[in-house]
Amino acid sequence: MRVTTAFCRLLRLDGVRVTSVLFEGDRVVVGVVLRRRRLVCPCCAFSTRGREGRQAHESVWRHLDLGVWRLEIRATLRQLRCPRHGVHVEGVPFARHRAQFTRDLEDLVAWLATRTDKTAITRLVRIDWQTVGRIISRVADEQLDERRLDDLFEIGIDEIAWRGGHHFLTLVTDHRAGKIVWGGVGRSAATADEFFAALDPPGKQPDTPDLPEVPADTEPERVAEGAAGDLPTVGPRAAQLTTISLDMGPGYAKSAREHAPQAVICIDPYHVVQLGNRALDEVRRSYWNELRSAAQPGAAKRFKDARWALLKNPDDHTSTQAATLRKLKNAGGAVWRAYTLKEALRSIFHSHLDILDVAILLERFISRAARSRIPAFARLAKTIRKHAAGILAAIRTGINNGRVEALNNKARLITRRAYGFHSANAALALIHLTCGPITLTLPQESL
Ligand SMILES: [Zn+2]
Repeated sequence: MRVTTAFCRLLRLDGVRVTSVLFEGDRVVVGVVLRRRRLVCPCCAFSTRGREGRQAHESVWRHLDLGVWRLEIRATLRQLRCPRHGVHVEGVPFARHRAQFTRDLEDLVAWLATRTDKTAITRLVRIDWQTVGRIISRVADEQLDERRLDDLFEIGIDEIAWRGGHHFLTLVTDHRAGKIVWGGVGRSAATADEFFAALDPPGKQPDTPDLPEVPADTEPERVAEGAAGDLPTVGPRAAQLTTISLDMGPGYAKSAREHAPQAVICIDPYHVVQLGNRALDEVRRSYWNELRSAAQPGAAKRFKDARWALLKNPDDHTSTQAATLRKLKNAGGAVWRAYTLKEALRSIFHSHLDILDVAILLERFISRAARSRIPAFARLAKTIRKHAAGILAAIRTGINNGRVEALNNKARLITRRAYGFHSANAALALIHLTCGPITLTLPQESL
């Protein structure tokens, strides 16, 4: 067998013939030519026999390693003129547009990124983390099916901290599928508006004939506003939404009421419990600061360690944490009272009670917290009272935190891995690949 034939079988690259194999330093360089005569646009399916100009483009892609050797594919490409996309270097079947890696290598990197940490990936594949970010953005763009937004009925809109808590991403969950179907940068009403715009793109309503394509330099929103008048119309996909679960902030709620006024707004009990934890943490911190300023560093240090004992579910306590809690109980005071309040709130949502019982217990909690003389809990009581209808709607509709909480935790974990990316799009791509309706396959699985 000739060496070029052997490499052709070895590399399994679509649509090419191997013409040369060279060893150069730490890499094997494989020269290929495309089998097809027609030039194909890298952005669409347009193909033509006519090339644009005589210019030749020497192109290089990295492919899956060959043992310890890096493997480089080189080809000379031609230019074409696509009626939609203009002049481009022709696309190749084995790599994505603008990629310097083959599809196989990119698929491998994307699969790894959803499963393992930054150091492991960058060392194993010898690709720096920012490049990994660009790779997974390309894979996610390709794999995200627009139809994932077709049959949404019960959704959740949630924020997640990104890059050390100073930046935020908004994630939309399909409660029925248990998948994250949309992500955007920021956490305001405007971010939620972007989701609704993606759900029902302006100017793309099914009942109206297709509008002529809008040139890229005009804003599509303005065009739609002009056509639809002042009243926002509910888009066909937004009109299908029955339930939207939210946190207690004003931003998402405003957007949801505007774009899907028929949907019941639910306050996910998860957020209520989270607010309880935050109020307790506030009490704990101010007590800790008191201890420190009272020059009791030993006591302050011990108390700082009590944080996890206080915030954890009692069933999960270690024996040390249980002992810490007993001590706090014996000492009494605001921290202990705050703890019992937080636990009372948590147990309301963790014991599968029916809606009547939840309503009674919630009312009881509100009056207890309001009278607690602990400012953080008095504020919490007000917030919960304001959102009681939404909280009860969550119990009634069964939009609970079970599956969603697991998904949120997964998203949080993956977002921490994405801290190293400079671009929010790479972080969102990683979330989509991990928690979205995407199944990644490894190169050998698509044989
Ligand atoms: Zn094109």
